[in-house]
Amino acid sequence: MVDILNLTLPELEAWMQSLGEPRFRAVQVWQWLWQRMARDFEDMSNVSKKCRALLAQEARILWPEVSRVQESADGTTKFLLRLEDGALVETVLIPSDSREGVRRWTQCLSSQVGCAMGCTFCATGSMGFERNMSMGEILGQVLVARAHLCDVRPDWPILRNLVFMGMGEPLLNLSEVMRALQSLNNDKGLNFSPRRITVSTCGIQKGLKDLGESGLAYLAVSLHAPSQDIRARIMPRAARWHLDDLLAALKAYPLKTRERITFEYLLLGGINDQPEHAEALARLVGAVKGKLNLIVYNNTPGSPYQAPGEADVLAFEQILWKRHITAIIRKSKGSDINAACGQLKAANSI
Ligand code: SAH
Ligand code: SF4
Repeated sequence: MVDILNLTLPELEAWMQSLGEPRFRAVQVWQWLWQRMARDFEDMSNVSKKCRALLAQEARILWPEVSRVQESADGTTKFLLRLEDGALVETVLIPSDSREGVRRWTQCLSSQVGCAMGCTFCATGSMGFERNMSMGEILGQVLVARAHLCDVRPDWPILRNLVFMGMGEPLLNLSEVMRALQSLNNDKGLNFSPRRITVSTCGIQKGLKDLGESGLAYLAVSLHAPSQDIRARIMPRAARWHLDDLLAALKAYPLKTRERITFEYLLLGGINDQPEHAEALARLVGAVKGKLNLIVYNNTPGSPYQAPGEADVLAFEQILWKRHITAIIRKSKGSDINAACGQLKAANSI
């Protein structure tokens, strides 16, 4: 049986041609799958009966099963999804008002079950790595979210913003993530603009180059430290790629007009949140076309870290502004349902 959601459009075309179907038929099926969100070949009313029967015999439409939906007081919604082999992943929908006052949704996608990088502050990291997600599984999260929003918030604009900031390290699942980005970009399918997709990475040398060359998403880098020493202490595996080399690669990273790299900087009380750290950080990122998101640490069970004090956070931001670095304090959403940054850990949520 073919897992039809795991085929890109060119792959679907080739496969359907091998079944004796013309190419335009594949485009029709693709539109049914990704735009009309069909879950049954029978619904594909402009496809001949014979072709529908053939498809039903040869393929299946496999959406992730929604095990649980939790809504936070601030509207953030977390889904626990069960994949075909029983693996559990989480995805989060975050509501926000844009500067123009338009309401919008951003979805935080997972790309792996667990994560091999073991960053010391991250709940996903403490799970270890189970496996990569396939393109179909990655995009299945978007189908689930769009279908949910059609039901519960039909008056809001459609989901158009994605961040790969859920479970896993996207650049360690590069081939499936790239296939997902290509399919997201297809205007007969999900039709997401690359300008509304951000891939976040802790810094993986090979993947970074490929992502940059593809131009299929914006880049966010989890920096979290102003020096190699501190980085090695809090994210030991990511820090195997030396901070100087990571920064050099980011300086050379191909950017579109007006595009900037987002640096994520997690403030850990007493570890990297002091004025001297802010000064060092400003020197470090000053040469890169970037902006900084300061994230206040969210507590995760069993972790050795503490959230920074509010005064320290504000002082940190001020120093960056004084050094002409664009920095914003990113407010965490959904922490009451463990849906905030770094809190995703499926095994804990059952
Ligand atoms: N693996 C990628 C994608 C996951 S993004 C990456 O690390 O960039 C998840 C983001 O949440 C990362 O910036 C991560 O560093 C951050 N994060 C992890 N644990 C956190 C915590 N306890 N509190 C706040 N942010 C956290
Ligand atoms: Fe993996 Fe990112 Fe968590 Fe590090 S912060 S363990 S890279 S998911």
